[in-house]
Amino acid sequence: MSKYPFPKVDLHFHLDGSMVPEVTWKLAKERNVKLPAETLAEFKQFLIDTADCGDVGEYLARFDIPTAILQDEAALEETIYTTIENVKDDLCYAEIRFAPQLHTHKQLNQEDVIKAILKGKKQAEKDFPSIKVGIILCCMIANYDNSEENFETVRLFEKYYDNRHIVALDLAGEEDSVPMSHFAPLFVSPKEKGLPMTIHAGDNGIPENCSTVIDYGASRIGHGHKCFYDKKVMQKVIDTNTTLEICLTSNIQCKTEPSYKEHPAKKLLDAGVKVTLNTDNMILGNVTIIDEYDRAINEAGFTYNDLITCNINSIKASFMPEKDKQAYIDELKKHYQ
Ligand SMILES: [Zn+2]
Repeated sequence: MSKYPFPKVDLHFHLDGSMVPEVTWKLAKERNVKLPAETLAEFKQFLIDTADCGDVGEYLARFDIPTAILQDEAALEETIYTTIENVKDDLCYAEIRFAPQLHTHKQLNQEDVIKAILKGKKQAEKDFPSIKVGIILCCMIANYDNSEENFETVRLFEKYYDNRHIVALDLAGEEDSVPMSHFAPLFVSPKEKGLPMTIHAGDNGIPENCSTVIDYGASRIGHGHKCFYDKKVMQKVIDTNTTLEICLTSNIQCKTEPSYKEHPAKKLLDAGVKVTLNTDNMILGNVTIIDEYDRAINEAGFTYNDLITCNINSIKASFMPEKDKQAYIDELKKHYQ
């Protein structure tokens, strides 16, 4: 029996950072994409060796491999399908995110990308009924002017949004490279329409970014742990019932927190913040949700019951249909010890 025999949820993981190594290997070979290894075993070792990297910039650079591979419909379909297959035994519900604009370097436009992902995702849900999946579309913080691409992502989000398949909008990338205020126009229309948003903030950027994205209409924040260091911002997170998608290992790997022990996640939870635990990038970060729970308990000060609470927080803050939530919550409550 699993160490954590309760329904588990991951609200924050990136498709390109969670590709199954065997699939990356196969798709790369088929597409003549060069990998930094001669054999699959070596490639797997490379992924482990590079998981613990210098900073967010270095961390993000490793996404060049999946980006080079994921430029056609077949690769996208197979990747989302096998990624869901890979987590189906650990998770009852997952929200997987990706940025459509990163997959338009060859023949595809953003809408083609979304359609391919939806096709693979729906097939996986049919074949693996133990897991349900929502898809989050990411706009990107880039080192060039990509506002046209970002507005196209927002347009397609509004076109495809429902609460079963395309469930929310996000902004990802290197947070401190562009002021958060620059992105305000992107979120005006989704906020007006009351559409769900979760935005990366308060990770390697300033705590105030958490406050800014709440104003943009985000009900959840990707990471957000930096709010701990500004009590006013933390209070706003509590008062607005905003949920934090904490990814312990990712924060340590990117050095946005010094260690599991010093990570403020447990203090945030105890202060009344809606904390959830997630993986961010399972393969590039060499982490599973089970690893995250082990570290939360062994190093970050969480109790077993905290893990139940975090999963209840995840279900409540998830972008699944409201009517589906209670059954998960009832089941989770049975596991309090
Ligand atoms: Zn992320």
